[in-house]
Amino acid sequence: MAIKTLAIDRDKCIGAASCIAVYSDVFEIDAEGKAVLKLKGDKTTSDKTDIKALDVTSVDDDTLLLAAQSCPTAAISLFDETGTQIYPE
Ligand code: SF4
Repeated sequence: MAIKTLAIDRDKCIGAASCIAVYSDVFEIDAEGKAVLKLKGDKTTSDKTDIKALDVTSVDDDTLLLAAQSCPTAAISLFDETGTQIYPE
């Protein structure tokens, strides 16, 4: 499995912050109490994002999957290079 893009559904996010506990290099909570992705250039987004835009030198797929699985509302979606949704299944 190789994760290519990911997104956060802001309507589903309840700010439980489990994703941040698992992978704080990638996720943070914004001013509205919702999770966002940390991007290069000090930006953030919850929109569908290529992992290359994340503000990390290399993305650990296993940790990213763990973070998505830790979300109580399944607000984090992961997609592979063909655009197929990997998680939630
Ligand atoms: S774990 Fe889910 S609900 Fe909690 S902050 Fe992250 S995306 Fe939001």
